[in-house]
Amino acid sequence: MDQTDRLSYKAYLLPDQDTSIFLERLETLLDSLVGLDGARGANVMVQIVPTRNRLQRESTRLWGESFRSVYQCAECGRLNVESLDGQRDYWFLPEDEATPTNLLESTFTQRRVGRETD
Ligand SMILES: [Zn+2]
Repeated sequence: MDQTDRLSYKAYLLPDQDTSIFLERLETLLDSLVGLDGARGANVMVQIVPTRNRLQRESTRLWGESFRSVYQCAECGRLNVESLDGQRDYWFLPEDEATPTNLLESTFTQRRVGRETD
């Protein structure tokens, strides 16, 4: 295990705009793991589809249990973070006036924009 694992003061951001891309990739991965992407014939499908659907359902459940929300005000850049119990939220002011107000935007879109302007 890496020394930086399990830090109580660190989290990961997944932009809301990227969730469908993430879930599509997960679905593709699940399909390839159960062999659905190369499946041939009705018998194979009957065996594979329930497993694949269960994996899909369980990963959706895991998703819901694992993530809390963060929002950013597009005007002042304040961050809004959901509390640990999800019962309320807290606001954080940017320290610097030049703080971007799009910190939670799609990472994929940002990479594409970056490539186009290179
Ligand atoms: Zn604001």
